[in-house]
Amino acid sequence: MANEKVRVRYAPSPTGYLHIGGARSALFNYLYAKKFGGDFVFRIEDTDVERNIEGAEESQLHDLIWLGIIPDESTEHPNPKYGKYRQMEKLDIYREYAEKLVEMGYAYYCYCTTEELAEMKEEQLRNGVKSFKYDRRCLTLTPEEIEKYKAEGRVPSIRLKMPANHTLKFHDLVRGDVSFNSDDIGDFVIMKSNGIPTYNFAVVIDDHLMEITHVLRGEEHLSNTPKQLQIYEYFGWEPPKFGHMTIIVNPNGKKLSKRDLNILQFMSQYRDLGYVPEAIFNFLFLLGYTDQNGQEIFTKEEACKSFDPARLSTSPAMFDQKKLLWVNSTYIKKMDNETYFNFIDPFIGKVDFLKNLPLDRKNEISLMFKNEINYGAQIVDLLNDIIVKKDELDDAEKEILAKESAPKVCALFKEKLALLNETNKENISNIFYEIKNETGLKGKDIYMPIRIKLTGVMHGIEMYNIIDILGKEETLKRL
Ligand code: GLU
Repeated sequence: MANEKVRVRYAPSPTGYLHIGGARSALFNYLYAKKFGGDFVFRIEDTDVERNIEGAEESQLHDLIWLGIIPDESTEHPNPKYGKYRQMEKLDIYREYAEKLVEMGYAYYCYCTTEELAEMKEEQLRNGVKSFKYDRRCLTLTPEEIEKYKAEGRVPSIRLKMPANHTLKFHDLVRGDVSFNSDDIGDFVIMKSNGIPTYNFAVVIDDHLMEITHVLRGEEHLSNTPKQLQIYEYFGWEPPKFGHMTIIVNPNGKKLSKRDLNILQFMSQYRDLGYVPEAIFNFLFLLGYTDQNGQEIFTKEEACKSFDPARLSTSPAMFDQKKLLWVNSTYIKKMDNETYFNFIDPFIGKVDFLKNLPLDRKNEISLMFKNEINYGAQIVDLLNDIIVKKDELDDAEKEILAKESAPKVCALFKEKLALLNETNKENISNIFYEIKNETGLKGKDIYMPIRIKLTGVMHGIEMYNIIDILGKEETLKRL
């Protein structure tokens, strides 16, 4: 395999939209391909028919493209050399290969019904067996028994015949040498009686026929790998190199689950909230990888250059929302103004106050937030905080206004502001400077009471920008 072209793939089941774990797998496969001049393939594992969701395939693909993880081959741009890119369109191929295994004596028909299997499992449990293994009763059926089953209308599945006490080992790109014993696995179904292959079988056929050389996937697939290796061995095919990436954990150290409602999981949610695709790409990269020099902000090209499979994290990756906000705000700050205006436009459109303003003025106001927001939709809240003054103050805010100096500061500010012809940055700064000199107060004691009077909150953009947005008249009224 020394000179072969690297071919990797991302093979989601269309049972949901692109989420963090899937996007991370896709990203590292993509980087692997790009690093080594190879191809990144997007194909679909849709054999779990009942769980498939309408539109999931398209959104998986388009969300990847949004992230800049652009497949060289996909369901939309297949390479005819590699056949179909959806499993349900190639059932005949799986059947053909499964029957080959039967002919070679490596697989056999199983006529057991669901009820019989359930009974078998129950009995094993009663006898203290910890993990269920098929008892091979169909391995030695006589021709008469087979005829009898057929006459009953039973349709068989096909099971792989695992060899006894066989070591299945491989060198994992992330965890090093891993080995399993075939005795712990049992004869598993490769083709169900409905003619649909199981994941472990179909994935091997696909990876082989598509000449996949490397597979980076989630740790949850580690125990599937020996089953797949056994199939490769029976066919005499060389398996790809496998790497199993660590789990992603939430800040409590628990495996990130789709039920973690306080962490957004789907790429589409991030897109809708105004996250920058390059920032998400960057953040996902940090979820599996530590740069040698501790660099944290990477363009796609830099990530590709820095990426070294030997440095894939071996400890769980923590999903740090604060870091994501930081990475995203870094990308917003880096935008040139034209890019920023386009980026922020859909959010600005949600603020009534701005709707009838001329474009120049809208842009001027948008720019006031460029260094303040972590994601696009935040501008809506920040602007509304200013425009719709909060009436109910909380204790901390009340405490500031209750200070002895507060009324004086506000009165002084109001008086001086009223005299201004122009409420620009310089003039406003001068007023604060004068108040400081006249009262001997400093910093927060001057700014906070005014900020709270104006907006009802203690945070926000620069005060001169708030005054600019409100206008002199409204500012004086609020004071
Ligand atoms: N469809 C599988 C999944 O989404 C792919 C597993 C694999 O990469 O082999 O988990």
